[in-house]
Amino acid sequence: MLFKKIEEFGNLEMKYISDFSGGYISRNKSILDNLELNKFTQFVLEKSVYGTPIFKLGNKGNKILILSGIHGNELPSQVANMKLLNKMLYEDLNHTIYFIPFASPKSSMNNQRTLNTMDLNRSAHIKNSLSNLIIQTVEDLGINFVGDFHSTSFTSNPGIESIFSSKAPSPESYLIANYISKDIGCDVLSVDFAGSSYKGAVEDVCNLNGVPAITGEVVCPFANIGEGTVERSFAQMVSFLEYFGV
Ligand SMILES: [Zn+2]
Repeated sequence: MLFKKIEEFGNLEMKYISDFSGGYISRNKSILDNLELNKFTQFVLEKSVYGTPIFKLGNKGNKILILSGIHGNELPSQVANMKLLNKMLYEDLNHTIYFIPFASPKSSMNNQRTLNTMDLNRSAHIKNSLSNLIIQTVEDLGINFVGDFHSTSFTSNPGIESIFSSKAPSPESYLIANYISKDIGCDVLSVDFAGSSYKGAVEDVCNLNGVPAITGEVVCPFANIGEGTVERSFAQMVSFLEYFGV
């Protein structure tokens, strides 16, 4: 399916990645209460009822994806991604930025980690799973770099604000992670080879496919939005884009 220009919102283009993952995100009160409520936000929430939309801004330079909502109950990054989209909507960009603010609207609606019991960050290698469709989209569009933004609770793994990356086979992942870590002050957690500790993370499958990728984590209770957590996730996204000179 091709991207469609949305005349109402500057240079915005969108298309769907899947039609089986839709949900009423506005039923998640923690998300709704933290979103900037304007016509554009309303538009995104409406489109998310029918599946997983991907949005595009700009036409030049690198192709960069800002992804969130792979775990539907990790809320700060989903709100931060919408904040970023709102902010960049009418800007003249020197790179092409793709946004998936709500990877699995159904999971976000239900404040659930999984989609129909499938953990999307353990199934990106499984043909035609939702996260695999995101991987296929990355390939089809020729996206060069992927930032996947999550949150972690204090008592779970990793439990600290951090950037995950692998040093191989796409070593630039590690450089990006180090840039963000120095820029905003958080830890780097790296492994030598992507996918060596567990299978099917979006970041790892991208890295294995030759697309440098990082996972950003901020500390926040699951299914909630703690004070300052949207801002921390937003800072990770901005720093990720700054690495490329956006
Ligand atoms: Zn997660």
